[in-house]
Amino acid sequence: MSNKQEGTRNKEIRVRMAPSPTGFLHIGTARATLFNWLFARHHGGMFMLRIEDTDAERSKTEYEIQLIEALHWLGLDWDEGPDYVDGKLVSKGQFSPYRQSERQEIYKKYVEQLLAEGKAYYCYCTKEDIEAQQQAMAASGLPPKYTGHCRNLAEPPANWQSRVVRFKTPENKISFHDLIRGKVEFDASLLGDMIITRSDGSVLYNLAVVIDDHLMGITHVIRGEDHISNTPKQILFQQALGFPQPIYGHLPLILNADRSKMSKRKNKVALEEYRNAGYLSDAMVNFLALLGWHPKDDREVLSRDELIELFDINRVQKAGAVFNQDKLDWLNREYLKKMGDEEILNALMENGAWRMENRTNKTLLKKIIPINRGRASTLRDFIDLGKFFFDLPDYAPAMLVWKDGNANDTAAVLKTLHEKLKSISPENFENRGVITSAVQEIVNGRLNRGEVLWPLRVALSGQQSSPDPLEIMMVLGKEESLRRLRMAMDKISNI
Ligand code: GLU
Repeated sequence: MSNKQEGTRNKEIRVRMAPSPTGFLHIGTARATLFNWLFARHHGGMFMLRIEDTDAERSKTEYEIQLIEALHWLGLDWDEGPDYVDGKLVSKGQFSPYRQSERQEIYKKYVEQLLAEGKAYYCYCTKEDIEAQQQAMAASGLPPKYTGHCRNLAEPPANWQSRVVRFKTPENKISFHDLIRGKVEFDASLLGDMIITRSDGSVLYNLAVVIDDHLMGITHVIRGEDHISNTPKQILFQQALGFPQPIYGHLPLILNADRSKMSKRKNKVALEEYRNAGYLSDAMVNFLALLGWHPKDDREVLSRDELIELFDINRVQKAGAVFNQDKLDWLNREYLKKMGDEEILNALMENGAWRMENRTNKTLLKKIIPINRGRASTLRDFIDLGKFFFDLPDYAPAMLVWKDGNANDTAAVLKTLHEKLKSISPENFENRGVITSAVQEIVNGRLNRGEVLWPLRVALSGQQSSPDPLEIMMVLGKEESLRRLRMAMDKISNI
């Protein structure tokens, strides 16, 4: 952090997202990041990223990398980063995020200040002491909070083993105005004296957040409702340190359709999973923006620029935001419609999740895009719906037989189709008119087109539902189409 920001607060809007790198980017964190970003962009303010990695055991660099990649994918950029880390210039035009692990020395300075001003004290109680105190309190019907045993110690106990720093929590009521929830009140006397520094000297999360928000000049803290219980604690620290209070806005939780909380076990909660499932970044941003917010006119398909223009934090709802999978699919289809075949092809080629599956036959992929456009909700669907073009699935021979038909008739139809199609040149296989009239000749004189088209469809795709068999033949070409017909003939002869 550059020194010029220390202690200064400007009137412009400065917001931040502060994820912990302890797992994939959660859908709720992605939504909160987007709301902060939209708020900043709408007001021409600043948006910052701070990595909250004070939990050394759970924080991992690979998660931080994944998190940043996910934000890049969503197109959410940040405007500032530390100029120096350990005396070395780090930003060089491209901002790295602020990292709490790099800022412990800064936090300790403020702990010293609280100790010197008598607003914090060393606590020497052992785990066993605390347990005994709490049992005694519970026995007398008191809430389980720290008793304040070490608050007024004149001297440290002899032979003390370890010590933490505790904050002298005042026994007053805290109230703040939340942009989304209105007036929120909290009784601080329930908290007890909070630990602010662990026995190893590291500073705990709630105090670190307050110091960072202050030094980063954060004007608005916009975060998930799950953090609302941290807010009174953070306000108490701000008051003790003489920091101005930012404006708070707690975003509603994201719920399933049955209004249960989204959970890792039941839902896709990592943004990465949506990316791998073939959702587009623009559709995802649009969808996330509508999780708890909507513009005045109830429009739903909104580009990033439109979202920036319309975003209004005062229109964020208090009630839980329901995650509607159908809406996400619909939005994704809307964005797919706007993309040209070439653009879809590039998006398919770029996605690492499919590269791993070795589906990089670009020529074939290009041909199957227009065929599956009407049926695909996601990029992934193009791959799944088109799988049979790459590998014919193994299907039961009986599937080849049309409704009232039998194996013998089917064998005869397949044989006729094979003979007829064999006489067409490979070039003409790409000519719809030629293959249509060839197949039509076989259809003519029969009661139902299905008698011919059904076994042809199954032979070519190995599936009961597929695009038009003639289109499949045009994509597969002569050689492969005939090969598949021969395989079908073999199968039916074994019935
Ligand atoms: N580090 C917190 C989290 O990942 C966010 C805290 C905040 O936004 O104040 O949930």
